[in-house]
Amino acid sequence: MILSCNCEHEYQDRRCGRGRRYHTETTQRNPTIYRCTVCSTERTETGEVTKTGHRDRCSWQDVVDFCRRYGGKAVNIGPPPKAVKS
Ligand SMILES: [Zn+2]
Repeated sequence: MILSCNCEHEYQDRRCGRGRRYHTETTQRNPTIYRCTVCSTERTETGEVTKTGHRDRCSWQDVVDFCRRYGGKAVNIGPPPKAVKS
């Protein structure tokens, strides 16, 4: 699921569109809760935040896992960006 989030992630900006982030589906239902792969913020499909995240950026493995599960769309555009020193 790709939903909007306010975290920063250059790679996913390029891949999904500005401010658009891969979200993984959590086990919560009614409503279904999705978690941002970058910052872990949890939200409903309509964008209502249910839990504020904390991670600065996702690992490449998160993206790979996501694509493996949802169709592999992000694996063909080259290597992930270099880690940014904070
Ligand atoms: Zn996020």
